[in-house]
Amino acid sequence: MRLLQPAFVALATFCSAVLAQQAEKYEYQSDVARLRRIVVDSLYSNRDVFLRELISNANDAIEKLRLTALTEKTVWDGAAPLNITIKTEKDEDGKGGRIIITDTGIGMNPEELTKNLGTLARSGTSEFLAKAESEDATGSGNLIGAFGLGFYSSFLVADRVQVASRPPVSSKDSNPSQYVFSSSSDDATFEIYPDPRGNTLDFGTEVTLFLKDDAASYLDASGLTKLVNTHSSFSSAFPIYLWTEK
Ligand code: ADP
Ligand code: MG
Repeated sequence: MRLLQPAFVALATFCSAVLAQQAEKYEYQSDVARLRRIVVDSLYSNRDVFLRELISNANDAIEKLRLTALTEKTVWDGAAPLNITIKTEKDEDGKGGRIIITDTGIGMNPEELTKNLGTLARSGTSEFLAKAESEDATGSGNLIGAFGLGFYSSFLVADRVQVASRPPVSSKDSNPSQYVFSSSSDDATFEIYPDPRGNTLDFGTEVTLFLKDDAASYLDASGLTKLVNTHSSFSSAFPIYLWTEK
């Protein structure tokens, strides 16, 4: 227990640094809110896109792992299977549930979780916002595609998203830890913390979507299978395994 203490001190420092940064950049926070609203408003009638976006992110991450492994052998031994798993879990009451998308990709350390999922690091974001807000709904949808703001489409169907991620072993880190990014659709903040479950992933990323009440139909096995088939056929170079609950 005592050995763990420095890690928690470091985490506390990290979290307060993140929170302090957010508090300072109020403008930035409102950009995130604006962006999310645009994504949700303009794609609401086409909520299915969330799955394509998440599969495409998983696919990109695995591709990146494979590419990195060409020059850095430790990240992938060439034998561990590379794939995407999609699993559904229903709540006890049978009403709501979760969709969990796991990939054996490059993963993200806490700094990358923060930067890639929690901030609008991309250049041209304000340009995008200005354009999107002056366009009609369809125009915004196209812009979103062009700008690749895919991850935010999770909030079309989920009121909470948790991303657990663990980078592979590399020269920079011989024993990477698994961290979680967690955010609610109506929160102005996000959280980053060490996964309380420990390192459940060998390497890669697990995205858990806590479905909105009106999105529970995505737990339906045949509907989800159809949706995965539609998207996987053109957007994934790696096998996709689908596990659904009866
Ligand atoms: P884009 O894919 O166009 O970059 P996204 O909003 O879909 O935009 O994703 C933002 C970033 O988050 C990605 O560029 C990537 O760095 C990171 N990311 C998202 N999903 C994953 C994942 N499954 N594994 C690793 N990194 C990811
Ligand atoms: Mg993407």
